[in-house]
Amino acid sequence: MIPQMIPYFDELETKVIMEYMHTGGFLTEFIKTRQFESTIQEFTKSRHAIVVNNGTVSLIMMLMALGVGPGDEVIVPNYTMIATANSVIAVGANPVFVDVEPQTLCIELEGLRSKITKNTKAIYFVSANGRYPTYGIENLEDLCKSYDLFLLEDAAQSLGSYFPDGRHIGTRGIMGSLSFSVPKIITTGQGGCILTNDDLLAERLRRLKDFGRSEGGNDIHDSIGYNFKFTDLQACIGIAQMSKLQWRIHRKKEIWGTYWKNLKTLSTFQLFNHNVEFTAPWFIDAIAQDRENLETYLKGKGIATRRMYPPINAQKAYRRPGQFPVSENIGKSGIWLPSYVQISESEISEVCEKIHEFYKK
Ligand SMILES: *Cc1c(COP(=O)(O)O)cnc(C)c1O
Repeated sequence: MIPQMIPYFDELETKVIMEYMHTGGFLTEFIKTRQFESTIQEFTKSRHAIVVNNGTVSLIMMLMALGVGPGDEVIVPNYTMIATANSVIAVGANPVFVDVEPQTLCIELEGLRSKITKNTKAIYFVSANGRYPTYGIENLEDLCKSYDLFLLEDAAQSLGSYFPDGRHIGTRGIMGSLSFSVPKIITTGQGGCILTNDDLLAERLRRLKDFGRSEGGNDIHDSIGYNFKFTDLQACIGIAQMSKLQWRIHRKKEIWGTYWKNLKTLSTFQLFNHNVEFTAPWFIDAIAQDRENLETYLKGKGIATRRMYPPINAQKAYRRPGQFPVSENIGKSGIWLPSYVQISESEISEVCEKIHEFYKK
């Protein structure tokens, strides 16, 4: 069986966990967590990196830190992982959906402009699969400035991916969020991180994740906070995974290259294109004609795939009217191919061969 996604770790993760256990740490977040944060901060060149439970909590915290709440609207792309929209609901605000660009699946700029109201507080830019928008992120930044809106980045899929000017994705908004769940570029089982260059927000986020404590270890609370803390056990794994990040990024690009070489001639099965100079494709995404039969065919050959996200407005949890042709098309035909870093070149060739076989029939 060729799975769609499995985590990758080796002896290093085992070794660091054993070492940590033998040196008697506190288990919860402490020195290892600070070290993990430093590696992310250095890698992304963000002034602050604040790790939390997961990439959903980090989204919720970004909104909380800005005071977004009831009566406010946040613009969200209609194609994204559901957590982006749900984070807006979590703080009592209203997500407003906008369709995405067909080439990149990033939020569409003109559609976005038409959805801004006097209640709009923030815009979520979601870098789908490490891609950046065709219109240039500067134009989205300018739009946010001219309407006095916060630009937030959900960069959960984009560790190791950059905007064409060389800045790491997730560092252009006032805050950006990463996820370390199992399928993401690196994983700590669960985990999330907020990137920001704003000292005041960083301070607010650190208090927010630790019960509103004015300092670690005391019980003096100047503000309301909760417990969104990380653990040093996870940080040990995270530091180990970060030490192999360059290799993982390289593999993601190589894997995409092999798929592209083998599948680019098909008109019935279209891979999303990437500029791998800047993007480390997290999952191999494509638009497949006759998706359901393809899935069944591949499954019969021992190849697992996964459907891309359905349009959020049409999910039962939302049921919002509106026309979103691009995200609707992804909901009908979008498919993810096996994308784990340790997949072999011959396994990729096999997947491609079976896809060709299916469309020849
Ligand atoms: C994975 C993901 C999330 C959620 O992250 P978790 O760590 O699983 O909570 C949010 N947004 C996007 C775009 C994601 O891909």
